[in-house]
Formats: sequence, structure tokens, C-alpha cells
Amino acid sequence: MTTDFDHIVIGAGISGLGAAHFSARRGLSTLVLEASDRVGGCINSQHFDALGGFWTEGGGHTCFNSYGNMLSILDDLGLTGQVEEKLKVGYKLWKGGKRRSILSALHFFEAARSIPRLFTAPKDGRSVADYYGSVLGRRNYRDLLRYAFQAVICQPADDYPAEALFRRKPRRKEVIKAFTFAKGISTIPEAIAAQDAIQVRTGQRIARIESDAEGFLVHGEDGSQVRGRHLTLAVPPDVATALMPNGFEAARDTISDIGMSEIETLVLAFRNQDLPLKPIAGLIAVEDAFYSAVSRDFKPDDYRGFAFHFKPGQLSPEAQVERACTALGVAPDRIAAQSRIHNRLPALRSGHFDLVKRLDAALAGSRLAVTGNWFLGVSMEDALTRSRSESDRLFGT
Ligand SMILES: Cc1cc2nc3c(=O)[nH]c(=O)nc-3n(C[C@H](O)[C@H](O)[C@H](O)COP(=O)(O)OP(=O)(O)OC[C@H]3O[C@@H](n4cnc5c(N)ncnc54)[C@H](O)[C@@H]3O)c2cc1C
Repeated sequence: MTTDFDHIVIGAGISGLGAAHFSARRGLSTLVLEASDRVGGCINSQHFDALGGFWTEGGGHTCFNSYGNMLSILDDLGLTGQVEEKLKVGYKLWKGGKRRSILSALHFFEAARSIPRLFTAPKDGRSVADYYGSVLGRRNYRDLLRYAFQAVICQPADDYPAEALFRRKPRRKEVIKAFTFAKGISTIPEAIAAQDAIQVRTGQRIARIESDAEGFLVHGEDGSQVRGRHLTLAVPPDVATALMPNGFEAARDTISDIGMSEIETLVLAFRNQDLPLKPIAGLIAVEDAFYSAVSRDFKPDDYRGFAFHFKPGQLSPEAQVERACTALGVAPDRIAAQSRIHNRLPALRSGHFDLVKRLDAALAGSRLAVTGNWFLGVSMEDALTRSRSESDRLFGT
């Protein structure tokens, strides 16, 4: 089989674009195939032209100076100097139809008693409920932390592996601690995809992949075909299962049971003067139809924006608008602009890291890489760390 590209990447989220960046920097011809009409996947800054280009984040919203792989890519692209600080504003709880302070749900004495365990208790193999219940107290977990973690991963958090949340990483102290860009986080995937060394084809949903001794034959849903010597799957686990090429049945069987959390995200924008609410980072919902809301108040503007991450199938679109406006204390007729996004995040469970070891054993020595936000953890940096190590495996360090 003659190949068209040294490396084909399926999926143009940050995992796939990172994988493409790392191979293109090695001088390899690199093609990215993306099903949707845009790059970025879960990174999805919503720009409202009718509001003078005001934007707010519909997905990933914050990068940190501990994101070493992300920063190395920003260095390569000359973007590190353009990162912008996020104004510090706090989260509120949304509980029983009222906005409340986070501290109102904290059991101080229990936290003080338990906290020394934070420095000694191992996370390995433990669930979020088990680990954080032990290091911050069972009542603190029940009344506050479980909702805070749900808010982060947009799904029930109890059975999620503790190791997959908040990995400690070295910081680059000369870079702003928590940052964004003048036009939002989508600046990053768009800049990676815009490089001449990477070809990106959007609107290319991949239906099937064949493999032989020379490499991979990738079939698009539209009947297109393209050949690559190496292949990276950078798609959610259910899609990776469906696309796993012939010859990789052991790899496919390993990942076929990983679930996904479906999230109905409603993005709302208001004129500043129409929203009396004081600036907030967002809302952490306690037993409501949404997990969380994330605001754009970290970058003041003439408008204010909020992404409400709703549980699937609970409220009609109209009822979601009502609920979001109630939580913000504003009438729906004050909405200046809105949009809707279907977000998806992997639903990891305890035992996940054994499964990753088995997958890696099944991929060893092959030209197939598998990356995503379902290996080390869900953050953009976790995704890029996996993309980097898979790139090193395929092409050498
Ligand atoms: C609401 C929300 C808030 C978040 N906040 C943060 C944050 O503040 N900081 C942080 O670090 N992380 C955050 N995250 C997590 C982070 O944004 C994601 O985990 C990460 O961006 C996922 O990247 P990915 O490339 O692994 O997957 P995805 O972004 O899901 O990309 C997968 C891509 O594959 C494409 N695809 C699927 N099927 C096919 C097919 N058959 N053919 C071709 N292409 C296909 C999809 O269209 C998609 O573009 C957040 C996530 C969400 C949802």
C-alpha cells in the first residue's frame, strides 16, 4: 500500500491537534480528519457577532502554568506571551433555589481533623468518594465536595477514579497561574490547526479503518479514502472502539465498556446592565438539573456570559432557559444571545488505570496510537501528556 501521509490523526480536539503538532514538528507529513465543521472539540469559545464579538466559553475555560505540554506548544507557536490573566472571582453554590456561599456547606471542624490525611493518603485505586471523603471528611464530601467534583467533570463523581482528578504538576512560574486568551481558549486549537505543516480536513466523519503491514486505510463516511503509515485515534472511547482497525481486537475489547457522560450545554449572554448579579466564577449546583454554570466574569466586558451544563434528558430547552435565568436572578426576556452545545466527557470508573495498562500492552510495537482525555485525566494537559507519550512511542523521543 503506498501511503499519502506519514501520520493521520482522527479527531481535532486538543488531543488530536497535540498529536499532529508533535509529529509535524518532527518533519512528518501530518493529516487531521475531524467530523465536525470546526476544530477544538470540547474547547469551544462561543463568539456572538451580534454582540460585537463578545465571547464566552462553552467548554474548557482555564489553562494553568502547570500545563507543561500545552505551554511547550504555545512556545512553539509564539503564543506564550499572549496569555491573559483571569480576574479572580469566586464560585457560589446553587442549592434549594438560592445562591449561597461555598463556606456555608463546609464542616470546618471535620475538615480540620481530616486534612492532615491529604498529605499522606494514597489516591491509587480509590474512588473520588472514598479518597476525598477520607481526606476532607465524609460530611464535607456529602454536602459539598461531591457537587464540586460533579461540577468539574459534568457527571456523578462518586465512582470516578481519584487519581484522574487534580494531578500535581510542576509550574512555570514566569507564566500567569490561570490564563486564557483575548479571544478565548479556542485560540489554542485554531493556532495549532493553522500551521502549514499540518493539513486539517473538517466535516470528515470517519466510518471505518483498515490496517495492513504498510499502515492504515481510513474510510470517510462520504466514501473518501486516505492512507497513512501511522495512525492516531484521538476520539472519545466509544468512537475509538468503533473505529479500531482489524488486527487490534484485543485493544478494542479493552476499551469497549468505557462510558460517556452526555452534557446539554446552554450558553447565555446578557447586557451588563440587565444582570444585577455580582460577578461570579460560576455556580456549583446541588441536586439540580444542571451540574454547574461557568461565567465569563473573569474578563469584564459590556456583556456577561454563562455556560450552564445540564444533565441530559431532564428539562426541555425552554425549561433549561427558565432554570438558568432563575439561578442568575434575571428574566428570560433579558437574554441578549444564546447558543447550545452537546458536550461529551468520558465516564471513568475505578480500575480504569489497569485497563489503560492492558490497552498499552495491546498497542505495544504497533503503528497505532490512541490518545484522549480518558488516559491520565480529563484536563487539556492530561490529554496532551498522553498525546506526547504516544507520539514518542510511535516516532521516538
Ligand atoms: C464543560 C467543560 C469544561 C471544561 N473545562 C476545562 C478547563 O477549564 N480546563 C481543562 O484543562 N479542561 C477542561 N475541560 C476538559 C477538556 O476541555 C477536555 O477534556 C479536552 O478538551 C478534550 O480533548 P480531546 O481532544 O481529548 O477530546 P474532544 O475535545 O472530545 O475531541 C474529540 C474530537 O473527535 C471528533 N470526532 C468524534 N468522532 C469522530 C469521527 N468518527 N471522525 C472524525 N472525528 C471525530 C470530535 O468531533 C471532536 O472534535 C472541560 C471540558 C468540558 C466539557
